[in-house]
Amino acid sequence: AAKQQGRNRVVVYAPAMRQAVVERVALNRSMLTALAEDEIIPFYQPKVSLETGRITGLEALVRWRRSAHSILSPSAFEAALADPELAVLIGERMVRRVASDVRGWVEAGFDCGRVAVNLSSAQFTHRDLAATLLRQFHAAGVEPSTFDVEITETVFLGRSSDHVAPILDELYRAGVRIALDDFGTGYAGLIHLKQLPIDTIKIDQSFVKDIESDAFDTAIVCAVIELGRNLGMHVVAEGLETAGQARFLREKGCEQAQGFLFFRPLGVAEMTDVLRAEGDGAAAARLALF
Ligand code: C2E
Ligand code: MG
Ligand code: MG
Ligand code: MG
Repeated sequence: AAKQQGRNRVVVYAPAMRQAVVERVALNRSMLTALAEDEIIPFYQPKVSLETGRITGLEALVRWRRSAHSILSPSAFEAALADPELAVLIGERMVRRVASDVRGWVEAGFDCGRVAVNLSSAQFTHRDLAATLLRQFHAAGVEPSTFDVEITETVFLGRSSDHVAPILDELYRAGVRIALDDFGTGYAGLIHLKQLPIDTIKIDQSFVKDIESDAFDTAIVCAVIELGRNLGMHVVAEGLETAGQARFLREKGCEQAQGFLFFRPLGVAEMTDVLRAEGDGAAAARLALF
């Protein structure tokens, strides 16, 4: 019967598997072309202090600019970000561009705060990830202490979970700060908060969305804010879209937030305009939003 089942399985799944392989190969090939054509670029989303309205830092978010009219978000090329080889190529491209943009802002006298790059689990398969990042910061002439890296709890699940602590320690010693992204959506976050040099907790947007109406989300968010305060960590809420959410989070003592209420992710030219215009007036206008 098992043999019979096995044969059936092959018959049933083979076309789907074959199709998946074909699609993966096609995506990988077009990603290599995209890299060669310089279509992989960072967008930037500011983090805002809920207390002062000031921009406290930026997060770089990868985009695939296929044309002036077609800019893809990472969900459209998730498979490429999960592929160990492509993830490294995409990651290196992102860091190179981000470091060069940061250098431009610093030279122009703009204060962009700390700038965060997101790292995928696939990048941790390479034990030299920290050295590679530090080399790139150095090559761009920017201090490592200008950067944050954002990781999600999925990095602890992969085959390379042994690499995570040494890589993060090496980055931390060089001045890079580490943020735990999408906090609460993964698993076993608390032990990682204890064992790793984590500086910032980012509350996932799924908890923020209904924060005013859902008692469960309210309880979780308040607990995370409290946890961050007690551990001396920064807390950033993600995905703020409404004034009500912002008022609520400020009242609960949440320090910083990101979301469409303040900014959508911006291309480098727009981001530069925002930094140029940053000041008391811009901060007051942001506070007036909620
Ligand atoms: P993330 O790091 O948690 O980033 C937050 C996501 O929420 C971003 O989506 C951002 O555009 C979106 N967002 C921000 N504010 C709002 C809001 O008010 N409402 C809503 N609905 N969404 C908001 P994005 O850019 O599509 O990125 C999705 C995920 O892809 C990121 O989640 C991150 O895990 C990953 N990612 C982004 N850039 C990179 C990268 O350079 N490398 C790697 N490995 N992963 C990346
Ligand atoms: Mg992030
Ligand atoms: Mg997140
Ligand atoms: Mg996310």
